[in-house]
Amino acid sequence: MKLQGKVTLITGSGSGIGRSAALLFGREGAYVVVNDLDAAKGEATVAEIQAGGGRAVFIQADVTHPESVQQMTAHALEQCGRIDVLFNNAGISGVGVLHEIELEQWDRVMNVNIRGVFLPSKYVIPHMIEQKNGSIINMSSCIAEIGLANRASYAATKGAVLALTKSMQVDYAPYGIRVNALLPGTILTPFVENYLKNAYDDPEAALASIKGRQLSNDLGSPEDVAQAALFLASDDSKFMMGSPLYIDGGVVFG
Ligand code: NAD
Repeated sequence: MKLQGKVTLITGSGSGIGRSAALLFGREGAYVVVNDLDAAKGEATVAEIQAGGGRAVFIQADVTHPESVQQMTAHALEQCGRIDVLFNNAGISGVGVLHEIELEQWDRVMNVNIRGVFLPSKYVIPHMIEQKNGSIINMSSCIAEIGLANRASYAATKGAVLALTKSMQVDYAPYGIRVNALLPGTILTPFVENYLKNAYDDPEAALASIKGRQLSNDLGSPEDVAQAALFLASDDSKFMMGSPLYIDGGVVFG
């Protein structure tokens, strides 16, 4: 088991990629702290981990609210004693060309996708510094590397997360903390299903066109990304520092 004895905190793990990572980390022996805004979904992830014989606790928190994140961190430390892995996964989509994006919508995407990486890191890192050990995984996207139509606000956040990851790695390497980023391509989750429904008149045609852009000719699954997250969480990736890890069916390369 690759995460035996480790405590992992995964934001936004009530759905999609975060949920898959939580289930996988649980199977690999981690004590999984499941966070989400949505209590029903978060509790369901915990129940699934426990049904498989794993250990997990749900902590509801909004990753954009400082007090909420501070309380989540304190609760996780009280319950589990330590935090070895922080997976900053929670994120939302942002659709639209720049001049048509409302300020409120712009701020919301920035808040969840960037502030939502800043705040959990800010409160967990002091404990990792004390432990002199930790792995932080930040959720970027292949959109940080390639232009995609209609995704200006979302692309800006994921580029920022990649830059933040490199900066964090330089600052915290002396404390034994590794910070890496995941750059998934299009992964079939509720996030993508909603995006297709909201952004296109013909979601089926849009899906076929997205598939056609992949060298793989298909979309990824949440499990594909969860396996990459497991690699970055575990000591198997001990020589990876500040790295972008692509799980994109060749979309960046191709
Ligand atoms: P998802 O919508 O299935 O899951 C995201 C979860 O985050 C939800 O359960 C949601 O309730 C939670 N969440 C949202 N705002 C929150 C907040 N303020 N506080 C706490 N929890 C919050 O999405 P997903 O596809 O699994 O995406 C997860 C991450 O992966 C996101 O950061 C997304 O940008 C990134 N990503 C997804 C894809 C993809 O194609 N699905 C590709 C690249 C990157």
